[in-house]
Amino acid sequence: MMRFHSTRGARGASLRAALTSGLASDGGLYVPSRIPRACDAWRECNHFAGLGLTILRPYLEKEVPEDQIVSIVREALDFPVPLVRLEGWDDTYVMELFHGPTLSFKDFGARTMARLMSFFTAGAPVTVLVATSGDTGSAVADGFAGCAGLRVALLFPEGQVSSMQAQQLTLQRPGVRAYAVQGTFDDCQAMVKEALASPQGLRLSVANSINVGRLLPQMLYYFWAVIQGGFEEVVFCVPCGNLGNLTGGVLATQAGLPVKAFLAAHNANRAFPQYLQTGTFTSGLSVQTLSNAMDVGSPSNFDRLQHLCPDMRAKVTGYSISDEETLRSIRCVHEETGYIADPHTAVALEAARRHRKATGTGLPHVVLATAHPAKFPETVCRALGQGLAIPPGLQGLASRPKRVEPLAATKAALMEALRIWR
Ligand SMILES: *Cc1c(COP(=O)(O)O)cnc(C)c1O
Repeated sequence: MMRFHSTRGARGASLRAALTSGLASDGGLYVPSRIPRACDAWRECNHFAGLGLTILRPYLEKEVPEDQIVSIVREALDFPVPLVRLEGWDDTYVMELFHGPTLSFKDFGARTMARLMSFFTAGAPVTVLVATSGDTGSAVADGFAGCAGLRVALLFPEGQVSSMQAQQLTLQRPGVRAYAVQGTFDDCQAMVKEALASPQGLRLSVANSINVGRLLPQMLYYFWAVIQGGFEEVVFCVPCGNLGNLTGGVLATQAGLPVKAFLAAHNANRAFPQYLQTGTFTSGLSVQTLSNAMDVGSPSNFDRLQHLCPDMRAKVTGYSISDEETLRSIRCVHEETGYIADPHTAVALEAARRHRKATGTGLPHVVLATAHPAKFPETVCRALGQGLAIPPGLQGLASRPKRVEPLAATKAALMEALRIWR
């Protein structure tokens, strides 16, 4: 049976415990006790959900019956994951991870975790708390909506998310309540932490980005890119914030995927690139940028990455790209290849371009595209001087029913709201 150890030493948690508690009791992050080799069976997979079963089964079997594993993975991973070749850029590809319901790569983790949590908590209803500053909240809300035995309370800072994000967050969904907190994102996080620390008889859990249930499915698309491209060896370029996406890639290599190097593409929040360069990790306050889902001063997966891959400075090259360079990247990529990238993907495309130029390597580069450009219309328009077609997933968003409740930024207000929720 697969066990999960804490990065701080606690050992032997089950998947159920690791998933439902989120953080280990000693405050560390859960990592798998061993990483099963994927052998070569994965090379034969020609369907994404089939690949998901092959890679994820060893982590789930013994705790989840086979028929449940099949339905969880099939339902969670039921959207396309295309690898697009950039015409005009040498052997550079974009792996589009934004074709799930909320148009960001967080759908992979959120949809899988929701179904696993629903399975593990069956019969005893649980309220899942999420503090969000944007993309995570809508992916989690969408992933959990209608899952039996689960309800989701989304906490976001009133007036501090983009208009598109606010519309996505406050969509009326079964079992989901959105609370506009009169405070900052940090207040939202503090309220969640305090509620978990003393739940006053409520069954509470949390769906933040460090949950292993979100991490494990983030291995899959690295395998998928290599299968789709038929690559022998490859460089992956990852738009990074909390480093969860990159951690998924590192797990994939340890399961046997042949990866030559990873590029960690950051915006002006450069704690990790600085660590890779100097060997000293200094976290700071987050800086606001155009790629706001990557505005992280202190990446929450850093300890986990270091635990899994102590020699990561040899495997990962860091880049920090400014807002001005991000806008220029959107424009140049569009001019040179016709491709329209969102600001997060544009950061990674610029890192890939620099890496190729600096190393002269002829290896294929795969850039992970983490959000649909139409989620960031203001920035993309500013870069290109032209509007964007709205994809079906965002059409009609403005006219769909919304529900949002104001909430004071205190734990007491949150507990009261949860208590009167009927
Ligand atoms: C969350 C997010 C990222 C950063 O991913 P991490 O796993 O936190 O490093 C990048 N791009 C987009 C669009 C995101 O939503």
